[in-house]
Amino acid sequence: MTDGATDRQFHVEWERVCGRMRTEIGEAAYRSWVAPMTVRNVHDGLARISVPTRFMRDWVVAHYADRLQSLWNEEDDTVRSVEIFIQSDRPAAPDEATPARRQAAKVPAKAATAANVVDQISAPLDTRFTFNNFVVGKPNEFAYAASRRIAEAQSVTFNPLFLYGGVGLGKTHLMHALAWHIRERDPSRTVIYISAEKFMYRFIRALREQNTVSFKEQFRSVDVMLIDDVQFIAGKDSTQEEFFHTFNALVDQGRQIVISADKSPSDLEGIEERLKSRLNCGLVADIHATTYELRLGILQSKAEQMGVKVAAKIMEFLAHKITANVRELEGALNRVIAHSDLVGRDITMETTKEVLHDLLRANDRRVTIEEIQKRVAAHFNIRMSDMHSARRARSVARPRQVAMYLAKQLTSRSLPEIGRKFGGRDHTTVMHAVRKVDELRDHDQGFAEDVELLRRMLEG
Ligand code: ADP
Ligand code: MG
Repeated sequence: MTDGATDRQFHVEWERVCGRMRTEIGEAAYRSWVAPMTVRNVHDGLARISVPTRFMRDWVVAHYADRLQSLWNEEDDTVRSVEIFIQSDRPAAPDEATPARRQAAKVPAKAATAANVVDQISAPLDTRFTFNNFVVGKPNEFAYAASRRIAEAQSVTFNPLFLYGGVGLGKTHLMHALAWHIRERDPSRTVIYISAEKFMYRFIRALREQNTVSFKEQFRSVDVMLIDDVQFIAGKDSTQEEFFHTFNALVDQGRQIVISADKSPSDLEGIEERLKSRLNCGLVADIHATTYELRLGILQSKAEQMGVKVAAKIMEFLAHKITANVRELEGALNRVIAHSDLVGRDITMETTKEVLHDLLRANDRRVTIEEIQKRVAAHFNIRMSDMHSARRARSVARPRQVAMYLAKQLTSRSLPEIGRKFGGRDHTTVMHAVRKVDELRDHDQGFAEDVELLRRMLEG
């Protein structure tokens, strides 16, 4: 233990560490992970920090502990390590509640039987949307971990879990997976999955049929409620009002809620402030746009599930080209496979390009390599033919490198493809050009501005 004076000093240091963490990881992550931490004591160079749940401890240890330690060490070099532990001096963590407590919490409002309520309210779950079929990568690992944690917890952990991300990135998949998992493990728990849109229609119907009391009872008797696409109720005041009450009633009774939307709670427009702040209260997890690695992983997993062999070259091509979202990527693979099935021929690069003609065009950025070459040539006052020529004079070689660099940045062409468009050069030449330009931009302000200007002109 520390004495009063040093104790205060540690708190000041901790506040500074927190401030720096906030700048580094952003407000949302800060609020989810760092803000709930409490420094218990600092002794012998060891800072002991408590967090409320095991999941949180694991996540913080894996992602933030090292950084916290080094930031703190910069503030005060006597602090050499940090220990994160699960706080036990709390009124019993919800995720460690005893079965008895859980049972007690479940007793009220069980008028409707579980099966009844599920049948009446829940939309069917897609059998393909399981955790096993979900490919985890950097962009979705956090949302996945949070969903998994909630699916495995005996009772309420974070409430609500708020998943958000763009179209086709796996929000619905994760929600179904969560619901499957809970239903499988404990069939006595009432798990309902419903889109916010359905929720609204049911509510409106109940209003019309003057049936709102039983509507409320139905919803309020569930253990786990998953509501998809809440952005849908933006601006629909009475639905929001009802949703808000249902939400509060469930949270108060210790039931788990999981919500998805296309935006973060704070960015949702047309949603009341008090609802937003309630949505922000639990754990907010975003799913980012896919990366090439994740897309490739998903394609491999889907092909395997369908029991179809697709050449690596074609998978790479698809992962490279179809970047909008997973739904489109899946659609592309399905089309290619269906086509080969129908015509009874193997999948080749040619048929792939042919079958996906429209999709590929939509995914290609507008700028072509020819346009880039033309612009760059004009800018540096060289001939277009010099883009393809073998001349190595600096006055033409440098602009050529800039054009290769921009081709890499602004189009989805691969290095070999770019090389080919520059008089059949090798991909290593393109790679070298990209590196060279990067290096020059760092050291030569005028050059950097030239490149930036060209980029802006080409991007229109
Ligand atoms: P959203 O609800 O975010 O719009 P979905 O959950 O409906 O997106 O996902 C669209 C499609 O992409 C679904 O068929 C889903 O199975 C698939 N998908 C999305 N992400 C993944 C992933 N990480 N692994 C496997 N399939 C995925
Ligand atoms: Mg969805």
